[in-house]
This record gives sequence, C-alpha cells and structure tokens, in this order.
Amino acid sequence: MTHTLPLPRPIASPRAAAPVPAPRHRTWHLARAAVAAALCAGVLTAIQPPAGAQSAAPSRVFVTFVSHNDESFSNEPCRWVGSDRARYITNRAAIVEAAQRILEAGATWDVQSDWEYLTRVQQWDDEQARGATDGKNIVRWLAEIAPARIVVDAHSHERSGYNYADVAALVQALGAPDTGIVGGFIYTPARSETWTKFRAPLTGKRFPSFAWQPQAIWGGASRNHVNDSNASGIWRPASATAFHTDDPAQRLVNIGNATGGILAIDGTIDLLDRLGAGQLPPGRMYTSTIMIPQCELDNDPAVLASVASITQTLAPYVARGDLAWATLPEMLRIWRDEYQSRPNVFLP
Ligand SMILES: [Zn+2]
Repeated sequence: MTHTLPLPRPIASPRAAAPVPAPRHRTWHLARAAVAAALCAGVLTAIQPPAGAQSAAPSRVFVTFVSHNDESFSNEPCRWVGSDRARYITNRAAIVEAAQRILEAGATWDVQSDWEYLTRVQQWDDEQARGATDGKNIVRWLAEIAPARIVVDAHSHERSGYNYADVAALVQALGAPDTGIVGGFIYTPARSETWTKFRAPLTGKRFPSFAWQPQAIWGGASRNHVNDSNASGIWRPASATAFHTDDPAQRLVNIGNATGGILAIDGTIDLLDRLGAGQLPPGRMYTSTIMIPQCELDNDPAVLASVASITQTLAPYVARGDLAWATLPEMLRIWRDEYQSRPNVFLP
C-alpha cells in the first residue's frame, strides 16, 4: 500500500519503550490477566467470560507483519530486485533470513506480492536458487515453512495488464495456497474505490479462465495515500460511500490495518495503551499491521534490526495476553470462530 518508501527508522519510540501498564482492577481486566496466566501455565481449561461481557474472547490486539514489493516503476528499491538477478538472489536470501527471525520470535508475516516479482520468481528461481530453500521456489517455501505463521497473499495495483485474479493465479501457480486476502485497495474517494467488485468472483484479465473469490480485503488506502484508513478491527463494509460502517448482510470482510507506516508500530502501541488503560470495551477483536519493505531487506541492515526490535518491544504484551500475532487469514478465522463474527470498527 505504500509505494514511495522512506528509509526505515530504527524503532525507538518513547511510547514503544514505555513500561507495560500495571494491571487494572476492573473485573474484565482481571479476567484477561487470568487468561494470560493460564496460557503461561499451559492451562487449557476454558476461561469463563467476565460478567457483562458479550463474547467469550477477551479484547485483544491481533497483529502481523505485512510486506509489499509492487511494480518496479512504483517502488524504487524493487526496480533493482526486479531487473538484476544478482540483486534478486541477495534479496531472496534476506527474505529467508527475515522469515526465520520472525518465526523464532513467534511473530507472523503476510508476504504480499504484485505480478512483477512473481514473474521473476518464475524466471529466476532456478534449481541452484531453490537449493537454498529445500528445493522449493521462494513463494512455495514461504507458504509451506509454517503455514499458520507465514502466508503469501496477492497484492495488485491492477495495472500493466494484471488484475487481482491474475496475481492470485500467479501465487497459486508457484505452489502457495489461496489465502483469499486482497492485499491493498483504494476505498476513498468513493468514486475511485477498487474494492466493491470483490463481492463477486473476479475473472483474470491475463488469465481469463481463472476466477478468484476473495474472502477479505486489507489495507484500505486513498488515492495518492493522502487519507488512508487507520481503522482497527474487522467488519463488513456497507458500501462505497459507507466503508467504515458494518453491514451484516455483506459477506466481504475488511481487516483494519490501524497504521500502514513502514516499520511503524505507533498504531499498535496506541491500541495496546488504550487496552491497558481500560478504554476499550470487552469482547472485541482489534487488528493492526506493520509494514516491511521487502526490497530493502537486503540492502539496509536497519530493516531486519527493526523487525527484531519490534518483536522484542511487543513481547511483553504477548506475554500478558493483550497482543497476539496472527496472519490475516488466521485473523479472519479467529474473528469467525472466537469472536462470533462480531464487527468492530475502531477509528482512533
Ligand atoms: Zn503497492
């Protein structure tokens, strides 16, 4: 969703470094602490919902890393990854290292790719390259190394002859399962929206025999990124002119990103601060994502360092039970199974 990539800054925000707030004394906060304690102790017995709560699951922030590569003309660092095979190979190695670090940290990653990178994988992931990833191309390797924690989603600007269905077809052709996630779209201004068409199956332009039916959209952007959605939560957008309104009659789901800044956790920390201060109602599912610039992974050491720093900063919140890492398709499953598809549209 972000196409002009500023140099990532090390994560050292004073808010991020602030100590985790002390436990509060309202009933449902104590219940959440009990949940966290039970999880720490490995106790799997059911936790009773607090009195007055309308859902068995406690309010919690679900977060995942998301990366984009984009078409090279709209993403300067990706121009080199997409035009120089040597650079592609070093970036490939950095992707593998990032995946391993994310898994070691217990975090999750939605790798979102546009058509150009996927065609490079087709062209350049030869037997020698695949030797570094168990004989698999990088897309299949990412999708199979830990399917509950790393997934490959389609991302498309729907230019250059490829639409979202075409990109989804390329992802699947490389051996990754369909996640049903639309990895970025325009919601405003309403006349420029690109998402309502996903309520019905989309037929490929380049692969017209392929039809794709997404389950959820993520990354609501504005034309030229002047007014991107910073909503958190999961809901069914009502219409082009009422994006932030839930309509239970709709089946297409939106997963809010809270913040789309590169390696920025301000939106995540804001949600955790509000949760810790007792400002969020119980029984709600909050969502947030953290962008990784894929094409910078190999040429800027600050990127991997920031990924590690972010997982460390968020670890205490995970231990408390206030935050859970989950890929976007996993968030969708949790919303349905544990939050009974209860909509939440949180606009900070
Ligand atoms: Zn993009």
